[in-house]
Amino acid sequence: QAKHCSGGAYCVYAPDLEHRDDMSTTVEGRLKQALAKNTFALHYQPVIDLRTGAVTGAEALLRFAGEDCEALGPGLFIPVAESSGLIGAIGEWVTAEACRQHVAWAAEGLEPVPIAINVSPVQFRQRRFVQRLADILREGGMNPASLLLEITESAVMDNADDAAGILASVRALGVKVVLDGFGTGCSSLAHLGSLPLDKLKIDRSFVEGIRQDPTSRAVVEAVIALGRTLGLEVVAEGIESGDAFAYLKAHGCDQGQGYFFGRPLPRDEFARQFLGKGRGP
Ligand code: C2E
Ligand code: MG
Ligand code: MG
Repeated sequence: QAKHCSGGAYCVYAPDLEHRDDMSTTVEGRLKQALAKNTFALHYQPVIDLRTGAVTGAEALLRFAGEDCEALGPGLFIPVAESSGLIGAIGEWVTAEACRQHVAWAAEGLEPVPIAINVSPVQFRQRRFVQRLADILREGGMNPASLLLEITESAVMDNADDAAGILASVRALGVKVVLDGFGTGCSSLAHLGSLPLDKLKIDRSFVEGIRQDPTSRAVVEAVIALGRTLGLEVVAEGIESGDAFAYLKAHGCDQGQGYFFGRPLPRDEFARQFLGKGRGP
């Protein structure tokens, strides 16, 4: 099993500042180069309807073209993109590429599923975020109903009133909104009820704990119940075993993703395995 490369990735680097600066200069350089030479790529991970087993969506995850996330994954380079001011351009590339891919799959006669992209809190707070999103969708010719934005708790809870306005504008375009990593931040439940959302995504850390940790199971069940009460779909991430799958399905979780169903794959590989007639897990 490949090692997941996001959480705590910083810890592996020596704490001396000089080394860290070298590192981030290098990462920043690679990001700039990838933007200039168009050598980013999106990998796609299937999202499964837990009741039927059908593939109902895909999460797009950013990579350097030709590499998986073992080399230098987004858990490490997204923070550099945020602090160096490159995240706006990178986020727009991701949005445009997801649109382009969706339209291309349809043109190839496949039946593309809705695509979820991750949006950085920094990008989310940029002044022309919603306008740019609308422009990219229009220019790309993508049906907004086939796009979902995954945002984090910190993006929305830092200033929940502002966030609610931005999210309402996003949804007015017809784009859906997923609260990613739910349960790890410090969501105010009061605010949660007033936010215009479509889905809650249960963080991988709780899904991992289903097997041995009663607290994780309690959190998972509480999020599913909360989603139901608020009229939101609930999706679980990081499903790695049949046991976790069975548990989530039995407790009424709507959707799931994880290595058990499929890893993030390059676009052609994803299309071959998961799109088109008669295919599925
Ligand atoms: P995320 O949005 O929570 O994405 C889920 C991460 O979990 C992905 O890591 C995925 O490869 C990994 N994963 C999926 N299934 C499993 C599983 O069963 N077990 C384990 N252990 N891991 C699994 P990845 O691709 O390294 O991305 C890490 C984070 O980087 C993402 O977390 C997201 O926050 C951020 N990210 C990725 N792509 C983008 C992007 O295009 N824009 C922005 N702003 N952030 C991105
Ligand atoms: Mg995500
Ligand atoms: Mg997540």
